[in-house]
Amino acid sequence: MRCEVHPDKEAVKFCGSCGSAICEDCLVNADGTSYCKSCYTKKRKTYNSNNQIESIVNEFASLFRNKIFLLVVIGFIVLILIIIIVLALNPAQTPDYMYSQGMFGP
Ligand SMILES: [Zn+2]
Ligand SMILES: [Zn+2]
Repeated sequence: MRCEVHPDKEAVKFCGSCGSAICEDCLVNADGTSYCKSCYTKKRKTYNSNNQIESIVNEFASLFRNKIFLLVVIGFIVLILIIIIVLALNPAQTPDYMYSQGMFGP
């Protein structure tokens, strides 16, 4: 059994990802598994990008785990809903109210 990259060298293991024969020079150990160098490079790239997404998700999760933040968001949404409902139920009264407060008009 010969290494697929180095035909002059004896392979010591098989790549845990692509299954090709790998010599000691090409062997990379990661997470207790043997990989060839190209698979290890690919694996490391995906691992890093997964980590970035994970860290963003964790950031959001920690924000939502923060109960004060959650209460503020819920309170804000309820407030907006109340304003929308009040405006929808009294469409004719709103301008009068605004005029009486001196916000609009002469
Ligand atoms: Zn491989
Ligand atoms: Zn090799």
